[in-house]
Amino acid sequence: MAERPRTYTAEGVILRRRNIGEADSIFTVYSDREGKFDAVARGVRKTRSKMRGHLEPLMRSRFLIAKGRTLDVFAQAETVHHYRVVREDLDRAATALYCAELVDRFTVERAPQEGLYSLLLGVLDALEDGCGIAVARYFEVQLLALTGYDLALEACALCGSPLPAEETLLSPSAGGLVCRLCRPRAEGGRLLSLRAVKVLRYARRETLDAFAAVAVSPELDGELRTGLALMLRHTLERDLSATRFVEDVRRLPAAHPPPSPGGSVE
Ligand SMILES: [Zn+2]
Repeated sequence: MAERPRTYTAEGVILRRRNIGEADSIFTVYSDREGKFDAVARGVRKTRSKMRGHLEPLMRSRFLIAKGRTLDVFAQAETVHHYRVVREDLDRAATALYCAELVDRFTVERAPQEGLYSLLLGVLDALEDGCGIAVARYFEVQLLALTGYDLALEACALCGSPLPAEETLLSPSAGGLVCRLCRPRAEGGRLLSLRAVKVLRYARRETLDAFAAVAVSPELDGELRTGLALMLRHTLERDLSATRFVEDVRRLPAAHPPPSPGGSVE
């Protein structure tokens, strides 16, 4: 029987860190091939640690990882990109950390999502190159599409009829834009200006480079941010309750417990 390899290599972006004990940290990484995983870096908070400068949230690094019984352990780490501009600017760092948190929340461990790693890298690269923080809106729209919650933006999400060029409701429960007639059935949402609707469609259809070249004012960005935040929250809450439901079902006692071997049912 072939033995499982004891180490593996991975390249990824560090989403977050949690310190444990006196000098160790657990890092959550999103990588191309492995998807999301946690691993511990022993002694990384000591000044003489060789891995210290290569393991920080928002860094893109290459790792050699040893499999552990409960938690994998970083054996080596080497930086591919520091994203220094992003990490040293308050607004950029906050935006990038927000995208990292979304990746964390929208994924499960060891299940790589096609296209998500390059989307995350794309947004980090854009922020590093000086693009405005509105690239986070592009990230949100594309993240929803990649994870199976693509927004209905071209026609009404409820009745499918074409949407006139006007202020339009973005409805979380409907999963996208909703026409005026369907509004009463849409269970709330955020009314978007025509300009905001156009930017949303552009974010869904175009490349990140094309989107980053569009001038999005802070007001317009704010309008889109609140609308998309409603969509993201609705999606996560629905997912969370589904996860809880599955866990509840698992905890239920079996309807017909198997009889214990040789014993009697009490
Ligand atoms: Zn409709």
